[in-house]
Amino acid sequence: MPKTKYIFFTGGVVSSLGKGIAAASLGVLLKNQGYNVTIQKFDPYLNVDPGTMSPYQHGEVFVTDDGCETDLDLGHYERFIDKSLSRANNITSGMVYWDVLNKERRGDYLGATVQIIPHVTNEIKSRITHTLTDDVSDIIITEIGGTVGDIESLPFIEAIRQFQYEHDEDCVHVHLTLVPYLESSGEFKTKPTQHSTKELRAIGIQPDIILCRSHMPLDKDIKKKVALFCDVKPEAVIAAHNAKSIYDVPLILEQQGMDRVICNKLGLVESKSDLEEWKRFVQNMHDPTNLPVKIAIVGKYTNLSDCYLSVVESLRHAAANTNCNIEIKWVNSEDLRSDTVASQLNDVDGVLIPGGFGERGIKGKVQAARYAREHRIPYLGLCLGMQVAVIDFAQHVCGLTDAMSVEFDPNTPNPVIHLMDEQEGVVNKGGTMRLGQYPCEVKEHTRLHDLYKEPLIYERHRHRYEFNNEYKSVMESHGLVFSGICPDNQLVEVIENPDHPYFMACQYHPEFKSRPLKPHPLFYGFVEAAKAFTGTQQELFVR
Ligand code: GLN
Repeated sequence: MPKTKYIFFTGGVVSSLGKGIAAASLGVLLKNQGYNVTIQKFDPYLNVDPGTMSPYQHGEVFVTDDGCETDLDLGHYERFIDKSLSRANNITSGMVYWDVLNKERRGDYLGATVQIIPHVTNEIKSRITHTLTDDVSDIIITEIGGTVGDIESLPFIEAIRQFQYEHDEDCVHVHLTLVPYLESSGEFKTKPTQHSTKELRAIGIQPDIILCRSHMPLDKDIKKKVALFCDVKPEAVIAAHNAKSIYDVPLILEQQGMDRVICNKLGLVESKSDLEEWKRFVQNMHDPTNLPVKIAIVGKYTNLSDCYLSVVESLRHAAANTNCNIEIKWVNSEDLRSDTVASQLNDVDGVLIPGGFGERGIKGKVQAARYAREHRIPYLGLCLGMQVAVIDFAQHVCGLTDAMSVEFDPNTPNPVIHLMDEQEGVVNKGGTMRLGQYPCEVKEHTRLHDLYKEPLIYERHRHRYEFNNEYKSVMESHGLVFSGICPDNQLVEVIENPDHPYFMACQYHPEFKSRPLKPHPLFYGFVEAAKAFTGTQQELFVR
Protein backbone atom coordinates (compact mmCIF):
# COMPACT_ATOMS: atom_id res chain seq x y z
CA MET A 1 0.00 0.00 0.00
CA PRO A 2 1.44 3.44 -0.90
CA LYS A 3 2.40 5.63 2.00
CA THR A 4 0.16 8.54 3.05
CA LYS A 5 1.50 11.94 2.05
CA TYR A 6 1.20 15.08 4.15
CA ILE A 7 0.74 18.67 3.05
CA PHE A 8 0.99 21.44 5.64
CA PHE A 9 -0.37 24.94 5.16
CA THR A 10 1.07 27.76 7.24
CA GLY A 11 0.23 31.43 6.93
CA GLY A 12 2.37 34.53 7.01
CA VAL A 13 2.20 38.33 7.23
CA VAL A 14 -1.48 38.73 8.15
CA SER A 15 -4.43 36.53 8.97
CA SER A 16 -7.63 36.21 6.90
CA LEU A 17 -5.78 35.56 3.65
CA GLY A 18 -7.95 32.56 2.90
CA LYS A 19 -5.73 29.66 3.93
CA GLY A 20 -8.81 27.49 4.33
CA ILE A 21 -9.97 28.18 0.79
CA ALA A 22 -6.44 27.58 -0.53
CA ALA A 23 -6.19 24.24 1.30
CA ALA A 24 -9.66 23.23 0.13
CA SER A 25 -8.81 24.24 -3.46
CA LEU A 26 -5.68 22.13 -3.45
CA GLY A 27 -7.89 19.33 -2.14
CA VAL A 28 -10.08 19.68 -5.23
CA LEU A 29 -7.07 19.40 -7.54
CA LEU A 30 -5.58 16.37 -5.81
CA LYS A 31 -8.93 14.62 -5.57
CA ASN A 32 -9.29 15.31 -9.25
CA GLN A 33 -5.97 13.55 -9.79
CA GLY A 34 -7.63 10.46 -8.35
CA TYR A 35 -6.25 10.65 -4.80
CA ASN A 36 -8.23 10.09 -1.64
CA VAL A 37 -7.78 13.39 0.17
CA THR A 38 -8.76 14.61 3.60
CA ILE A 39 -8.22 18.02 5.17
CA GLN A 40 -7.87 19.00 8.79
CA LYS A 41 -7.48 22.25 10.66
CA PHE A 42 -5.38 22.87 13.77
CA ASP A 43 -6.58 25.94 15.64
CA PRO A 44 -4.19 27.41 18.20
CA TYR A 45 -6.79 29.00 20.52
CA LEU A 46 -7.57 27.54 23.94
CA ASN A 47 -11.31 27.03 23.50
CA VAL A 48 -11.98 23.32 23.27
CA ASP A 49 -14.11 24.05 20.22
CA PRO A 50 -15.62 27.19 18.68
CA GLY A 51 -19.13 26.20 19.82
CA THR A 52 -19.09 28.60 22.73
CA MET A 53 -17.66 31.54 20.78
CA SER A 54 -19.73 34.48 19.63
CA PRO A 55 -20.38 34.62 15.89
CA TYR A 56 -18.83 38.11 16.07
CA GLN A 57 -15.59 36.44 17.13
CA HIS A 58 -15.54 33.43 14.98
CA GLY A 59 -18.25 33.49 12.33
CA GLU A 60 -20.34 30.39 11.74
CA VAL A 61 -19.95 27.25 13.80
CA PHE A 62 -19.89 24.33 11.38
CA VAL A 63 -21.25 20.97 12.57
CA THR A 64 -20.00 17.59 11.39
CA ASP A 65 -22.02 14.37 11.04
CA ASP A 66 -20.55 13.08 14.29
CA GLY A 67 -21.73 16.17 16.15
CA CYS A 68 -18.57 18.22 16.54
CA GLU A 69 -18.84 22.01 16.56
CA THR A 70 -16.00 23.13 14.33
CA ASP A 71 -14.32 26.01 12.56
CA LEU A 72 -16.06 27.31 9.45
CA ASP A 73 -13.11 26.23 7.30
CA LEU A 74 -14.34 22.65 7.76
CA GLY A 75 -17.38 23.76 5.75
CA HIS A 76 -15.13 24.88 2.90
CA TYR A 77 -13.22 21.60 3.04
CA GLU A 78 -16.40 19.50 2.90
CA ARG A 79 -17.91 21.57 0.12
CA PHE A 80 -14.75 21.56 -1.98
CA ILE A 81 -13.69 17.93 -1.66
CA ASP A 82 -17.28 16.67 -1.38
CA LYS A 83 -16.60 14.56 1.67
CA SER A 84 -18.06 14.43 5.17
CA LEU A 85 -15.41 15.08 7.79
CA SER A 86 -15.39 14.30 11.48
CA ARG A 87 -14.31 15.62 14.87
CA ALA A 88 -10.79 14.42 14.10
CA ASN A 89 -10.56 17.06 11.39
CA ASN A 90 -10.58 20.06 13.71
CA ILE A 91 -8.13 20.12 16.58
CA THR A 92 -7.66 23.05 18.96
CA SER A 93 -5.00 23.78 21.56
CA GLY A 94 -7.79 23.48 24.11
CA MET A 95 -8.46 19.86 23.06
CA VAL A 96 -4.79 18.98 23.04
CA TYR A 97 -4.11 20.43 26.50
CA TRP A 98 -7.30 18.84 27.83
CA ASP A 99 -6.09 15.40 26.78
CA VAL A 100 -2.55 15.96 28.00
CA LEU A 101 -3.81 17.09 31.42
CA ASN A 102 -6.22 14.15 31.67
CA LYS A 103 -3.36 11.78 30.89
CA GLU A 104 -1.23 13.49 33.53
CA ARG A 105 -4.02 13.10 36.14
CA ARG A 106 -4.38 9.42 35.25
CA GLY A 107 -0.67 8.95 35.78
CA ASP A 108 -0.04 7.96 32.16
CA TYR A 109 3.25 9.85 32.03
CA LEU A 110 4.77 7.62 34.73
CA GLY A 111 6.35 10.32 36.83
CA ALA A 112 7.70 12.45 34.00
CA THR A 113 7.69 16.23 34.08
CA VAL A 114 4.93 17.08 31.59
CA GLN A 115 6.12 19.66 29.07
CA ILE A 116 5.09 21.35 25.85
CA ILE A 117 7.90 19.49 24.15
CA PRO A 118 7.54 16.50 23.95
CA HIS A 119 4.12 15.88 25.53
CA VAL A 120 2.05 18.54 23.80
CA THR A 121 3.90 18.20 20.50
CA ASN A 122 3.55 14.38 20.61
CA GLU A 123 -0.17 14.78 21.18
CA ILE A 124 -0.36 17.11 18.15
CA LYS A 125 1.71 14.74 16.00
CA SER A 126 -0.58 11.84 16.84
CA ARG A 127 -3.54 13.92 15.57
CA ILE A 128 -1.92 14.50 12.20
CA THR A 129 -2.21 10.85 11.29
CA HIS A 130 -5.44 10.15 13.16
CA THR A 131 -8.25 11.26 10.85
CA LEU A 132 -10.95 8.84 12.02
CA THR A 133 -12.32 8.17 8.55
CA ASP A 134 -12.98 4.59 7.48
CA ASP A 135 -11.00 4.89 4.31
CA VAL A 136 -7.25 5.38 4.27
CA SER A 137 -6.23 8.77 2.93
CA ASP A 138 -3.58 9.01 0.24
CA ILE A 139 -3.06 12.64 1.16
CA ILE A 140 -3.75 14.50 4.41
CA ILE A 141 -3.77 18.27 4.15
CA THR A 142 -3.28 20.05 7.47
CA GLU A 143 -3.95 23.75 7.86
CA ILE A 144 -2.35 25.46 10.84
CA GLY A 145 -4.55 28.35 11.96
CA GLY A 146 -3.08 31.78 12.66
CA THR A 147 0.16 33.18 11.34
CA VAL A 148 3.79 32.17 11.74
CA GLY A 149 5.26 34.11 14.64
CA ASP A 150 2.13 33.87 16.83
CA ILE A 151 3.16 32.66 20.27
CA GLU A 152 0.17 30.33 20.55
CA SER A 153 0.82 28.53 17.27
CA LEU A 154 4.44 27.65 18.13
CA PRO A 155 3.74 24.13 19.52
CA PHE A 156 1.90 23.28 16.29
CA ILE A 157 4.71 24.55 14.09
CA GLU A 158 7.26 22.67 16.19
CA ALA A 159 5.12 19.54 15.93
CA ILE A 160 5.02 19.71 12.13
CA ARG A 161 8.76 20.39 12.06
CA GLN A 162 9.33 17.18 14.01
CA PHE A 163 6.82 15.37 11.83
CA GLN A 164 8.72 16.47 8.75
CA TYR A 165 11.96 15.21 10.33
CA GLU A 166 10.31 11.81 10.82
CA HIS A 167 8.54 11.62 7.43
CA ASP A 168 10.88 13.66 5.27
CA GLU A 169 10.08 12.56 1.74
CA ASP A 170 6.34 12.40 2.43
CA CYS A 171 5.80 16.04 3.41
CA VAL A 172 5.20 19.28 1.56
CA HIS A 173 5.02 22.70 3.18
CA VAL A 174 2.91 25.40 1.57
CA HIS A 175 3.32 28.90 2.97
CA LEU A 176 0.58 31.39 2.18
CA THR A 177 1.65 35.02 2.41
CA LEU A 178 0.58 38.43 1.28
CA VAL A 179 2.19 40.22 -1.64
CA PRO A 180 0.75 43.72 -1.40
CA TYR A 181 0.51 46.10 -4.32
CA LEU A 182 1.46 49.68 -3.57
CA GLU A 183 -0.68 52.04 -5.59
CA SER A 184 1.67 54.98 -5.03
CA SER A 185 4.71 53.30 -6.57
CA GLY A 186 2.70 50.97 -8.82
CA GLU A 187 4.51 47.81 -7.74
CA PHE A 188 4.15 44.57 -5.84
CA LYS A 189 6.17 44.26 -2.65
CA THR A 190 7.78 40.94 -1.75
CA LYS A 191 9.48 41.98 1.50
CA PRO A 192 6.64 40.83 3.81
CA THR A 193 6.82 37.41 2.13
CA GLN A 194 10.58 37.30 2.57
CA HIS A 195 10.20 38.15 6.25
CA SER A 196 7.56 35.56 7.02
CA THR A 197 9.48 32.88 5.14
CA LYS A 198 12.55 33.83 7.16
CA GLU A 199 10.48 33.45 10.34
CA LEU A 200 9.31 30.00 9.23
CA ARG A 201 12.86 28.94 8.40
CA ALA A 202 14.03 30.14 11.81
CA ILE A 203 11.67 27.60 13.35
CA GLY A 204 13.15 24.94 11.09
CA ILE A 205 10.68 24.71 8.22
CA GLN A 206 11.71 25.39 4.66
CA PRO A 207 8.59 25.95 2.54
CA ASP A 208 8.31 24.03 -0.72
CA ILE A 209 5.63 26.26 -2.19
CA ILE A 210 4.99 29.94 -1.64
CA LEU A 211 1.41 30.85 -2.32
CA CYS A 212 1.16 34.59 -2.79
CA ARG A 213 -2.11 36.34 -2.03
CA SER A 214 -2.22 39.38 -4.22
CA HIS A 215 -4.93 41.44 -5.70
CA MET A 216 -3.78 40.85 -9.30
CA PRO A 217 -1.93 38.02 -11.06
CA LEU A 218 1.83 38.19 -10.48
CA ASP A 219 4.22 38.46 -13.40
CA LYS A 220 7.21 36.16 -13.96
CA ASP A 221 9.76 38.60 -12.54
CA ILE A 222 7.98 38.93 -9.22
CA LYS A 223 7.66 35.16 -8.97
CA LYS A 224 11.38 34.78 -9.76
CA LYS A 225 12.25 37.28 -7.07
CA VAL A 226 10.15 35.49 -4.44
CA ALA A 227 11.69 32.18 -5.55
CA LEU A 228 15.24 33.48 -5.20
CA PHE A 229 14.79 35.11 -1.81
CA CYS A 230 12.67 32.35 -0.30
CA ASP A 231 14.74 29.53 -1.77
CA VAL A 232 12.02 27.72 -3.70
CA LYS A 233 11.81 26.78 -7.38
CA PRO A 234 10.24 29.49 -9.61
CA GLU A 235 7.38 27.14 -10.57
CA ALA A 236 6.69 26.71 -6.84
CA VAL A 237 5.74 30.37 -6.48
CA ILE A 238 2.03 30.44 -7.15
CA ALA A 239 -0.16 33.51 -7.25
CA ALA A 240 -3.44 33.27 -5.43
CA HIS A 241 -4.79 36.51 -6.78
CA ASN A 242 -8.24 37.89 -6.11
CA ALA A 243 -10.90 35.76 -7.73
CA LYS A 244 -14.49 36.40 -8.76
CA SER A 245 -15.59 33.71 -6.32
CA ILE A 246 -14.01 31.21 -3.96
CA TYR A 247 -14.90 28.47 -6.45
CA ASP A 248 -12.53 30.02 -9.01
CA VAL A 249 -9.53 29.43 -6.76
CA PRO A 250 -8.97 25.74 -7.68
CA LEU A 251 -8.92 26.78 -11.33
CA ILE A 252 -6.42 29.57 -10.69
CA LEU A 253 -4.11 27.18 -8.84
CA GLU A 254 -4.50 24.53 -11.50
CA GLN A 255 -3.58 26.95 -14.28
CA GLN A 256 -0.27 27.56 -12.52
CA GLY A 257 0.38 23.86 -12.04
CA MET A 258 0.27 23.75 -8.24
CA ASP A 259 -0.88 20.12 -8.26
CA ARG A 260 2.00 19.22 -10.62
CA VAL A 261 4.58 20.79 -8.30
CA ILE A 262 3.09 18.89 -5.33
CA CYS A 263 2.97 15.56 -7.17
CA ASN A 264 6.56 15.97 -8.32
CA LYS A 265 7.77 16.74 -4.81
CA LEU A 266 5.89 13.80 -3.30
CA GLY A 267 6.70 11.34 -6.09
CA LEU A 268 3.03 10.94 -6.94
CA VAL A 269 1.87 10.12 -10.42
CA GLU A 270 -0.01 12.91 -12.08
CA SER A 271 -3.11 11.71 -13.86
CA LYS A 272 -4.60 14.94 -15.00
CA SER A 273 -8.29 15.20 -15.57
CA ASP A 274 -10.03 18.29 -16.72
CA LEU A 275 -12.22 19.54 -13.82
CA GLU A 276 -15.01 19.75 -16.39
CA GLU A 277 -17.94 19.69 -13.97
CA TRP A 278 -16.32 22.17 -11.62
CA LYS A 279 -15.67 24.53 -14.52
CA ARG A 280 -19.27 24.24 -15.67
CA PHE A 281 -20.48 25.07 -12.17
CA VAL A 282 -18.24 28.16 -12.03
CA GLN A 283 -19.33 29.19 -15.51
CA ASN A 284 -23.02 28.92 -14.55
CA MET A 285 -22.33 30.94 -11.46
CA HIS A 286 -20.77 33.81 -13.38
CA ASP A 287 -22.97 33.67 -16.46
CA PRO A 288 -26.45 32.64 -15.47
CA THR A 289 -29.08 32.49 -18.18
CA ASN A 290 -31.89 33.59 -15.86
CA LEU A 291 -32.54 36.85 -14.06
CA PRO A 292 -31.22 37.16 -10.51
CA VAL A 293 -33.48 36.35 -7.59
CA LYS A 294 -33.47 38.47 -4.49
CA ILE A 295 -33.45 36.61 -1.20
CA ALA A 296 -33.86 38.28 2.18
CA ILE A 297 -31.81 36.70 4.93
CA VAL A 298 -33.40 37.85 8.16
CA GLY A 299 -30.99 37.62 11.06
CA LYS A 300 -29.33 39.60 13.77
CA TYR A 301 -25.77 39.55 12.44
CA THR A 302 -26.46 41.43 9.24
CA ASN A 303 -23.01 42.92 8.68
CA LEU A 304 -21.24 39.62 8.96
CA SER A 305 -21.95 37.17 6.19
CA ASP A 306 -19.39 34.81 7.80
CA CYS A 307 -21.99 34.16 10.51
CA TYR A 308 -24.25 32.53 7.93
CA LEU A 309 -21.51 31.28 5.63
CA SER A 310 -22.90 27.84 4.81
CA VAL A 311 -26.36 29.32 4.20
CA VAL A 312 -24.97 31.78 1.67
CA GLU A 313 -22.89 29.09 -0.03
CA SER A 314 -25.90 26.75 -0.20
CA LEU A 315 -27.90 29.49 -1.91
CA ARG A 316 -25.06 29.94 -4.40
CA HIS A 317 -24.93 26.21 -5.12
CA ALA A 318 -28.66 26.10 -5.74
CA ALA A 319 -28.53 29.23 -7.88
CA ALA A 320 -25.69 28.01 -10.10
CA ASN A 321 -27.46 24.71 -10.60
CA THR A 322 -30.72 26.43 -11.56
CA ASN A 323 -28.87 28.91 -13.74
CA CYS A 324 -29.58 32.11 -11.91
CA ASN A 325 -27.82 34.54 -9.63
CA ILE A 326 -28.66 35.28 -6.03
CA GLU A 327 -28.84 38.79 -4.73
CA ILE A 328 -28.87 38.72 -0.94
CA LYS A 329 -30.68 41.38 0.99
CA TRP A 330 -29.52 41.36 4.61
CA VAL A 331 -32.43 42.30 6.83
CA ASN A 332 -31.87 43.09 10.49
CA SER A 333 -34.64 41.36 12.40
CA GLU A 334 -34.49 44.04 15.07
CA ASP A 335 -35.81 46.54 12.50
CA LEU A 336 -38.89 44.48 11.67
CA ARG A 337 -42.19 45.43 13.28
CA SER A 338 -45.71 45.03 11.98
CA ASP A 339 -45.53 48.56 10.52
CA THR A 340 -42.06 48.16 8.93
CA VAL A 341 -41.97 44.58 7.70
CA ALA A 342 -43.66 45.32 4.35
CA SER A 343 -41.21 48.09 3.47
CA GLN A 344 -38.31 45.66 4.06
CA LEU A 345 -39.68 42.55 2.41
CA ASN A 346 -41.93 43.74 -0.41
CA ASP A 347 -39.15 43.64 -3.00
CA VAL A 348 -37.79 40.14 -2.35
CA ASP A 349 -38.46 36.79 -4.05
CA GLY A 350 -37.74 34.66 -1.03
CA VAL A 351 -37.36 34.97 2.73
CA LEU A 352 -34.84 32.85 4.59
CA ILE A 353 -34.56 32.79 8.38
CA PRO A 354 -31.40 31.00 9.51
CA GLY A 355 -30.49 29.53 12.88
CA GLY A 356 -29.91 31.64 15.94
CA PHE A 357 -29.90 31.86 19.70
CA GLY A 358 -31.28 34.35 22.22
CA GLU A 359 -34.23 36.69 22.31
CA ARG A 360 -32.79 39.66 20.45
CA GLY A 361 -34.68 40.22 17.20
CA ILE A 362 -37.13 37.34 17.72
CA LYS A 363 -40.29 39.38 17.31
CA GLY A 364 -39.00 40.69 13.98
CA LYS A 365 -38.31 37.14 12.80
CA VAL A 366 -41.88 36.11 13.65
CA GLN A 367 -43.08 39.14 11.64
CA ALA A 368 -40.93 38.07 8.68
CA ALA A 369 -42.25 34.48 8.75
CA ARG A 370 -45.79 35.84 8.94
CA TYR A 371 -45.23 38.25 6.06
CA ALA A 372 -43.81 35.50 3.84
CA ARG A 373 -46.69 33.18 4.72
CA GLU A 374 -49.42 35.75 4.15
CA HIS A 375 -47.88 37.19 0.97
CA ARG A 376 -47.08 33.78 -0.46
CA ILE A 377 -43.37 34.59 -0.74
CA PRO A 378 -41.18 31.44 -0.78
CA TYR A 379 -39.94 30.79 2.74
CA LEU A 380 -37.13 28.65 4.06
CA GLY A 381 -36.71 28.39 7.83
CA LEU A 382 -33.61 26.77 9.30
CA CYS A 383 -33.65 25.62 12.92
CA LEU A 384 -34.66 28.85 14.68
CA GLY A 385 -36.31 29.71 11.35
CA MET A 386 -38.59 26.71 11.86
CA GLN A 387 -39.29 27.64 15.46
CA VAL A 388 -40.37 31.20 14.55
CA ALA A 389 -42.55 29.84 11.73
CA VAL A 390 -44.27 27.62 14.31
CA ILE A 391 -44.72 30.59 16.65
CA ASP A 392 -46.27 32.66 13.85
CA PHE A 393 -48.60 29.84 12.84
CA ALA A 394 -49.70 29.27 16.43
CA GLN A 395 -50.24 32.97 17.10
CA HIS A 396 -51.83 34.12 13.87
CA VAL A 397 -53.48 31.03 12.37
CA CYS A 398 -54.41 28.92 15.39
CA GLY A 399 -55.32 31.93 17.53
CA LEU A 400 -52.89 31.08 20.35
CA THR A 401 -51.90 34.73 20.59
CA ASP A 402 -49.48 34.24 23.46
CA ALA A 403 -47.69 31.23 21.94
CA MET A 404 -43.91 31.43 22.32
CA SER A 405 -40.76 29.39 22.70
CA VAL A 406 -39.68 28.90 26.30
CA GLU A 407 -36.23 30.01 25.19
CA PHE A 408 -37.63 33.54 24.96
CA ASP A 409 -40.46 33.39 27.50
CA PRO A 410 -40.00 30.63 30.10
CA ASN A 411 -43.50 31.27 31.49
CA THR A 412 -45.48 31.35 28.26
CA PRO A 413 -48.92 29.73 28.66
CA ASN A 414 -48.51 28.19 25.18
CA PRO A 415 -44.98 26.78 24.90
CA VAL A 416 -45.17 25.64 21.27
CA ILE A 417 -41.38 25.29 21.31
CA HIS A 418 -39.98 23.81 24.50
CA LEU A 419 -36.80 22.39 25.92
CA MET A 420 -35.97 18.86 24.81
CA ASP A 421 -36.20 16.29 27.61
CA GLU A 422 -32.53 15.43 27.22
CA GLN A 423 -31.65 19.10 27.80
CA GLU A 424 -33.33 19.34 31.23
CA GLY A 425 -30.70 19.94 33.88
CA VAL A 426 -27.87 20.54 31.37
CA VAL A 427 -25.73 23.38 32.71
CA ASN A 428 -22.52 23.22 30.72
CA LYS A 429 -22.71 25.15 27.46
CA GLY A 430 -19.89 23.46 25.53
CA GLY A 431 -20.86 20.57 23.24
CA THR A 432 -24.12 19.83 25.06
CA MET A 433 -26.77 20.61 22.44
CA ARG A 434 -28.47 18.05 20.23
CA LEU A 435 -25.59 17.88 17.80
CA GLY A 436 -24.79 16.10 14.58
CA GLN A 437 -26.59 13.75 12.28
CA TYR A 438 -29.98 12.18 13.09
CA PRO A 439 -32.42 10.29 10.88
CA CYS A 440 -35.65 11.85 9.69
CA GLU A 441 -38.58 9.95 8.20
CA VAL A 442 -40.13 11.70 5.24
CA LYS A 443 -43.90 11.53 4.91
CA GLU A 444 -45.17 10.48 1.51
CA HIS A 445 -47.15 12.88 -0.69
CA THR A 446 -45.51 15.94 0.80
CA ARG A 447 -43.30 18.60 -0.75
CA LEU A 448 -40.47 17.28 1.37
CA HIS A 449 -40.84 13.90 -0.29
CA ASP A 450 -40.98 15.52 -3.74
CA LEU A 451 -37.73 17.32 -2.97
CA TYR A 452 -35.69 14.52 -1.42
CA LYS A 453 -37.38 11.61 -3.20
CA GLU A 454 -36.36 9.40 -0.29
CA PRO A 455 -38.25 7.96 2.68
CA LEU A 456 -35.38 8.36 5.16
CA ILE A 457 -32.87 11.19 5.26
CA TYR A 458 -30.01 12.16 7.58
CA GLU A 459 -29.37 15.76 8.52
CA ARG A 460 -27.23 17.66 11.02
CA HIS A 461 -28.52 19.41 14.12
CA ARG A 462 -27.48 22.03 16.62
CA HIS A 463 -30.23 23.07 19.02
CA ARG A 464 -31.66 22.69 22.54
CA TYR A 465 -35.32 23.40 21.91
CA GLU A 466 -37.86 21.47 19.85
CA PHE A 467 -41.44 21.56 18.64
CA ASN A 468 -43.86 20.68 21.45
CA ASN A 469 -45.86 17.68 20.20
CA GLU A 470 -48.83 18.65 22.38
CA TYR A 471 -49.61 21.31 19.77
CA LYS A 472 -49.35 19.00 16.79
CA SER A 473 -53.03 18.21 16.33
CA VAL A 474 -54.24 21.81 16.66
CA MET A 475 -51.73 22.93 14.06
CA GLU A 476 -52.55 20.03 11.76
CA SER A 477 -56.23 20.90 12.00
CA HIS A 478 -55.31 24.39 10.75
CA GLY A 479 -53.45 22.98 7.77
CA LEU A 480 -49.80 22.69 8.84
CA VAL A 481 -48.13 19.49 7.66
CA PHE A 482 -45.47 17.74 9.72
CA SER A 483 -43.60 16.11 6.89
CA GLY A 484 -40.38 15.08 8.62
CA ILE A 485 -40.22 13.25 11.94
CA CYS A 486 -37.23 11.76 13.75
CA PRO A 487 -38.07 8.05 14.16
CA ASP A 488 -35.99 7.71 17.36
CA ASN A 489 -38.03 10.06 19.51
CA GLN A 490 -40.81 11.52 17.37
CA LEU A 491 -39.20 14.99 17.29
CA VAL A 492 -40.61 17.21 14.56
CA GLU A 493 -37.91 17.80 11.97
CA VAL A 494 -39.78 19.49 9.11
CA ILE A 495 -42.96 21.49 8.77
CA GLU A 496 -44.54 22.66 5.57
CA ASN A 497 -47.51 24.72 4.57
CA PRO A 498 -49.19 23.07 1.57
CA ASP A 499 -51.39 26.09 1.05
CA HIS A 500 -48.44 28.16 -0.10
CA PRO A 501 -46.10 28.11 -3.14
CA TYR A 502 -43.11 27.13 -0.96
CA PHE A 503 -43.17 27.28 2.80
CA MET A 504 -40.63 24.84 4.22
CA ALA A 505 -38.91 24.90 7.57
CA CYS A 506 -36.70 22.37 9.28
CA GLN A 507 -35.27 21.87 12.74
CA TYR A 508 -31.98 20.71 11.25
CA HIS A 509 -29.32 22.60 9.30
CA PRO A 510 -29.44 21.55 5.65
CA GLU A 511 -26.83 24.19 4.83
CA PHE A 512 -24.11 21.92 6.23
CA LYS A 513 -24.69 19.30 3.56
CA SER A 514 -24.97 21.35 0.37
CA ARG A 515 -22.16 20.92 -2.14
CA PRO A 516 -21.38 22.93 -5.30
CA LEU A 517 -22.19 20.07 -7.65
CA LYS A 518 -24.92 18.64 -5.40
CA PRO A 519 -27.11 21.49 -4.20
CA HIS A 520 -29.26 20.65 -1.21
CA PRO A 521 -32.88 19.76 -2.15
CA LEU A 522 -34.42 22.27 0.28
CA PHE A 523 -32.28 25.11 -1.11
CA TYR A 524 -32.78 23.97 -4.69
CA GLY A 525 -36.55 23.92 -4.24
CA PHE A 526 -36.43 27.30 -2.50
CA VAL A 527 -34.44 28.97 -5.29
CA GLU A 528 -36.70 27.40 -7.95
CA ALA A 529 -39.73 28.74 -6.09
CA ALA A 530 -38.10 32.17 -5.79
CA LYS A 531 -37.46 32.14 -9.54
CA ALA A 532 -41.10 31.32 -10.17
CA PHE A 533 -42.11 34.04 -7.74
CA THR A 534 -40.01 36.68 -9.61
CA GLY A 535 -41.79 35.55 -12.76
CA THR A 536 -45.26 36.07 -11.29
CA GLN A 537 -44.24 39.46 -9.89
CA GLN A 538 -43.03 40.55 -13.31
CA GLU A 539 -46.25 39.36 -14.94
CA LEU A 540 -48.29 41.36 -12.44
CA PHE A 541 -46.12 44.36 -13.17
CA VAL A 542 -46.56 44.04 -16.94
CA ARG A 543 -50.31 43.78 -16.58
N1 GLN B 1 -32.03 28.61 19.75
C1 GLN B 1 -32.74 27.53 19.18
C2 GLN B 1 -32.49 26.24 19.94
O1 GLN B 1 -31.55 26.12 20.68
C3 GLN B 1 -32.39 27.34 17.73
C4 GLN B 1 -30.96 26.93 17.52
C5 GLN B 1 -30.49 27.12 16.10
O2 GLN B 1 -31.11 27.82 15.31
N2 GLN B 1 -29.36 26.52 15.76
O3 GLN B 1 -33.23 25.30 19.80
